[in-house]
Amino acid sequence: MTAGTPDSPMIRMSSVDKHFGSLHVLQDIDLTVPPGQVVVVLGPSGSGKSTLCRAINRLEPIDSGTVEIDGKPLPAEGRALAELRADVGMVFQQFNLFAHKTILENVLLGPIKVRKLDKATAEREATALLERVGIADQAQKYPAQLSGGQQQRAAIARALAMKPKVMLFDEPTSALDPEMVNEVLDVMAGLAAEGMTMLVVTHEMGFARRAAHRVLFMADGRIVEDSTPSRFFEAPESARAQDFLSKIL
Ligand code: ADP
Ligand code: MG
Repeated sequence: MTAGTPDSPMIRMSSVDKHFGSLHVLQDIDLTVPPGQVVVVLGPSGSGKSTLCRAINRLEPIDSGTVEIDGKPLPAEGRALAELRADVGMVFQQFNLFAHKTILENVLLGPIKVRKLDKATAEREATALLERVGIADQAQKYPAQLSGGQQQRAAIARALAMKPKVMLFDEPTSALDPEMVNEVLDVMAGLAAEGMTMLVVTHEMGFARRAAHRVLFMADGRIVEDSTPSRFFEAPESARAQDFLSKIL
């Protein structure tokens, strides 16, 4: 399969293993995500969800196995890795904005440095993205002047500014006050509806039911269930998933 053909999976992980010392945190992970699919990853704390996300863009090196994005193997380092990282946007629980830069500057930085856009073009694109996530009026403020929900929407705009092929979200609403959760989930649901390939670690079951095409349930470093939202929530197969759902629903 050549890179970028219509039948290339957007994400393909094959036999991926990862240890932290004696802890086997990813165990023989095989995962193929086609373009446009929205995958929600559920599982108890410590099951390896964050490590899975970080393995996909090599924030975390793996011990063995392969990861491909849009048909291209994950490069180990250097310029090729920087380019691949641009293909895979990531949004974390903590917004990770640069505190001493304005919201607009936060969104501009990657496009100018990595995509080599001129400042005017980058500003035009960044402004459009801030409009899209509903915070164009906050462009000249600093992160600390924004609410948590606004900061997280800025972080999403910053990731989108790199024109990623895949977006990874690791508990993007877990640090937010409850009244701000939906403004972030709505932006994510909009992206999903536009056909973005997304992998979303979340405890927001409403989002999983509403926006996911597929639910993965992880336990002890393995993908224990790979299901549709309706099948997973109505009839989870494993005892681990049944136990998990009984605690959160
Ligand atoms: P989750 O996101 O599902 O809560 P993580 O992927 O963060 O799980 O972590 C899986 C396991 O790996 C946990 O037991 C965690 O303590 C451990 N772990 C995560 N990161 C590290 C690290 N950098 N060094 C050692 N252990 C780690
Ligand atoms: Mg985690």
